[in-house]
Amino acid sequence: MINVCDLQVMKPLLAAHGFHFSKAKGQNFLIASWVPEQIALDSGMDSHTGVLEIGPGIGPLTQQLCLRAGKVCAVEVDTRLKPLLQETVGEFENLEILWNDVLKLDIPAYVNEKFSGLRPVACANLPYYITSPILTALLEADCFDQVTVMVQKEVAQRMAAKPGTADYSAFTVFCQYYAEPEPLFDVPAHCFLPQPKVTSAVITLHMRKERPWDIKDRDIFFRTVRASFAMRRKKLSNGLASGFPQLGKSGAAQVIAACGFDENVRGETLGIAEFSRLSNEIACRL
Ligand code: SAM
Repeated sequence: MINVCDLQVMKPLLAAHGFHFSKAKGQNFLIASWVPEQIALDSGMDSHTGVLEIGPGIGPLTQQLCLRAGKVCAVEVDTRLKPLLQETVGEFENLEILWNDVLKLDIPAYVNEKFSGLRPVACANLPYYITSPILTALLEADCFDQVTVMVQKEVAQRMAAKPGTADYSAFTVFCQYYAEPEPLFDVPAHCFLPQPKVTSAVITLHMRKERPWDIKDRDIFFRTVRASFAMRRKKLSNGLASGFPQLGKSGAAQVIAACGFDENVRGETLGIAEFSRLSNEIACRL
């Protein structure tokens, strides 16, 4: 197996195929082999696991996944990488590559078709420019046992944040509604070529089998969360009144009182259970 993280291997490989990095496609390739090894180790896969990898690039993580998982399906948008991946991962019989934009893929249908009888997981060093839409698609697909991703460190911190902290946001609640986050390790910028300006971090999202909240209407729940964070420095009633104009200020205040919260409560201090109570109260009044 070629060590594609070794610059003395990678650079001649890229040059031989006239390959140039595409900034528009978020191409920062790993050049530190401990990183893909550690990701594959920490994501706990074995021969019973089916892995969806997003953006294999020239295959450093793909190699490590193929060595451990029962089956790997990698989705890559940049077809210029075809001959390079043929050289770096062509030897693996448990690998299929789909040349497509992952955002155009029906993920649950694809996972169902490819990973029958296997434990489905997702694993990726995500392109930074579309981290949020990909994470949203992976979580809403609701078909994985776990999702392990490398993202900008600040995104990982937002995913794992606790109520009342600066990193806690509507995105946190969205992620934690679907999954329990487990931050794994940081990856410094010098582990990539070209070098990004930010530190990265690897995080596993353990998808919830059950959601221990009685949420009456999921759309209203997420609208409530977004409205609660929209005016961070203002009282919760202002945010709710502007997110749900039908309620008005007095209706918003009544919702807050009916939930037993202080009238001066701020949205960013509430956990999912509290947002669920708020959204159920709102749903009754719309
Ligand atoms: N996995 C490789 C590594 O760790 O070195 C490459 C990671 S690089 C950060 C992101 C990869 O995602 C690139 O190979 C890029 O071409 C691919 N990519 C970007 N947008 C994509 C999309 N919409 N669908 C699938 N792959 C995409």
